Amino acid sequence: MINKIKKLISQLKMFPGVGDKSAKRMVYFLLNQGPEKIEKLSEEIKDLNNIKKCKICGVFTEDEFCKYCSSDIRNDNIICVVEDFNDVQAIEDTGVYNGVFHILGGHISPVDGVFLDDLNIDSLFDRIDEDTDEIIIATNPNLEGEATANYLVEQLKSHDLKITKLATGLPMGGDLSILNQNTIKNSLKNRFDTK
Ligand SMILES: [Zn+2]
Repeated sequence: MINKIKKLISQLKMFPGVGDKSAKRMVYFLLNQGPEKIEKLSEEIKDLNNIKKCKICGVFTEDEFCKYCSSDIRNDNIICVVEDFNDVQAIEDTGVYNGVFHILGGHISPVDGVFLDDLNIDSLFDRIDEDTDEIIIATNPNLEGEATANYLVEQLKSHDLKITKLATGLPMGGDLSILNQNTIKNSLKNRFDTK
């Protein structure tokens, strides 16, 4: 195999769910698209370097702060804690949430080598102040998400604020981002106090 192709295949395999077979398919598909398409795609990928993470919550943004943190109409005394950006999108799509977010950047998973220190937990504690009314823990409904949620509840207990979790009834084993809007909307509406 041509070395250039080999190199790109091994790069593409870093994407979740992409194995040798799909990586090869992508590369040959690209080659068939011709130089213009390849140039455009590589420019758009390079352009991603201009996107950064919001300094407060970790949401992707082109500015220093994201549109949620810099909004005048959102309630920044309610913070919804999620695992990643897809979950922010899923919650936003319900149209019923008007607080701000905090992205953990994953969940605790010792088998995958992800420990507490790897998550944006300190920055969450740093932003909690006397104005903070509620922390909604919206980690994914699976074992790792639950373990992470339980840890957060435990750590936040001593703070004088409401700590809620999304209502049960979410199918276990899934990701928030693959659930339908109504399911998330209901679990958000029926969120319960953990204290
Ligand atoms: Zn933000």
